[in-house]
Amino acid sequence: MSRLKVREFKKKGGRQLWVAYVLIPTLLLTVGFSLEARGALKVVATTTTLASFFQEVGGDRVEVKSITRKNQDPHYVEAKPSYMVILRQADLFASVGLDLEVGWIGLIQRGAKNSRIQEGQPGFFEAGNHVEVIEVPEGKVDRSQGDVHPYGNPHFHLDPMRAIKAVQAVEAKLVELDPKSKEIYLKRSKDFQKRIASKIDLWKKRVKASGVKNVITYHKSLNYFIRFFGLEKIGNIEPKPGVPPTAKHIIGLIKLMKEKKVLCILNESYFEDTAARRLQKVTGAHVEIVDVEVQSYYTELIDSLVRSIEACGKGRN
Ligand SMILES: [Zn+2]
Repeated sequence: MSRLKVREFKKKGGRQLWVAYVLIPTLLLTVGFSLEARGALKVVATTTTLASFFQEVGGDRVEVKSITRKNQDPHYVEAKPSYMVILRQADLFASVGLDLEVGWIGLIQRGAKNSRIQEGQPGFFEAGNHVEVIEVPEGKVDRSQGDVHPYGNPHFHLDPMRAIKAVQAVEAKLVELDPKSKEIYLKRSKDFQKRIASKIDLWKKRVKASGVKNVITYHKSLNYFIRFFGLEKIGNIEPKPGVPPTAKHIIGLIKLMKEKKVLCILNESYFEDTAARRLQKVTGAHVEIVDVEVQSYYTELIDSLVRSIEACGKGRN
């Protein structure tokens, strides 16, 4: 064979090899992935935190969307038709429950016209049914108490141990709806729970070392976090749930803060911080604007709250 022919042969052979070893497997992978994506369970969650739990446990077996954005208040959401469109295709609608989403969830659930995700169906999930809650009101709840949470405080995800309980319920729901992927869900759930549990001791140490003993928050969103980390909550900036602060309430808070030497105000990022700034001016307390729903990862959410307590301890503004 002449040199030229050898080169020609190598070229052809190379092309064939490229087709055999690169192009065909790539095409197969692409087809495989798109089939995989079609087979994934479609999950719609009301909050980014709940969405992150499903993503952590489900991996690529689920396609997860959140109705509320990262810094959006999940108590009050406009029931947009676009949410109903998202829900129409869903295999599972996951809510926090305990009436957190009571003002809007029913509207988009019914509007979706998807029988799989209605109340009582396997495709509807309420995390709050699987977690022990605090602050369940005694006696009758009426409007004079503000938008009080009638089944207890629904913001349990900021207690890492309760978050683990919710993750276990997420795992059970995914296994129920997609039993063929059971092993994947069990493994991923176990790994995620371990990742949370392994950080608890250090978080507790850091909070203790910060020297912060007590705090003021805007809403009761942080009560589980405060309890879990052994802090004391002195008061809320809102006088009643869902009611903006009055001058009289702020004056009362200033007195209380001075009395109890409160140096830390945690203002949830989805609430106004005007009153917190006023309290800061008068009392010299440190204000931290804190996220209370997952922005990226769950452990990062708790970590950022611990960092805020540390910043309060140092008194940085
Ligand atoms: Zn609330």
